[in-house]
Amino acid sequence: MNEKIALLTIDTESWLISSKDLFKSTKNLKDIPIPESLLKNTYWFLRLFNDLSIKATFFILGCVAEKYPSLLKDILKHNHELGNHGYFHNFLYEYTEEEINENIFLGHEIIQRITGVTPKSFRAPYFSISEHNLPIIFSFLKNLGYTVDSSIFPIKTPLYGINNFDSTPKIIDGILVIPISIFSFYFFNFSLSLPISGGGYYRITPELLMMQLVKKYIKHNNTILLYFHPYEIDPNDIEIRNDNLSLKEKLIYIQQRVGRGRMKQKIKNILNLLKNWGFLFMSLQEFYEYKNH
Ligand SMILES: [Zn+2]
Repeated sequence: MNEKIALLTIDTESWLISSKDLFKSTKNLKDIPIPESLLKNTYWFLRLFNDLSIKATFFILGCVAEKYPSLLKDILKHNHELGNHGYFHNFLYEYTEEEINENIFLGHEIIQRITGVTPKSFRAPYFSISEHNLPIIFSFLKNLGYTVDSSIFPIKTPLYGINNFDSTPKIIDGILVIPISIFSFYFFNFSLSLPISGGGYYRITPELLMMQLVKKYIKHNNTILLYFHPYEIDPNDIEIRNDNLSLKEKLIYIQQRVGRGRMKQKIKNILNLLKNWGFLFMSLQEFYEYKNH
């Protein structure tokens, strides 16, 4: 059990789906356009993983599955795992218990209907599992036969996260919980934690610094979980209809855009580095099986 394992996850969504709640003008949009660039960008990941012979878990939203059913079949053809990311990309902690269950169930059901495969790994949209909704979500996941959750961001941010959550994978309420990897360290007397696992953090942080943090992290950890979004490799998938943005929203927009041109190369570099360091890439369900045998 001392092998080094990399768990690679892709939240398969376009920018506006992933970011609509960051802007007043799009927060309450019901019908989110899903551009075809989502396909182009997801296929880029599929080709890359194929070239590197690595496996990943693709978290799928029900609304994306409905629009692009053949994408799900292609992901399976490449032997990757399909996980459930809910039907709509909304904050689960803003939902009633019934709405939470409905969002999870609809996402679950549509993946099953399109592919005949029952998803067993879950990631909440926006990592929106909180201390309060965790027991409800986990009991519902268990009833549907789920074995893995990868929704917990162990740093509290304005949008998501549970502070000081131990990021080591472990069983909670019968579900293997694999939180997003973070690097914790002491700076003088202060305990600091930095996300080292992908997404915007990976896009914005200078590559050399990120590699140093990852190197330090894996000295003490055998498992690293990475996550990426297809839109982050695409400088064009960042359109917002209303350009009447507040100053704060303009800053968020710039932050969302920065680093996209370099992202493909950065992703190739970290994956190659982990391979060279002897990491095995597994889907989350393969990791679950591995932990149980
Ligand atoms: Zn997402």
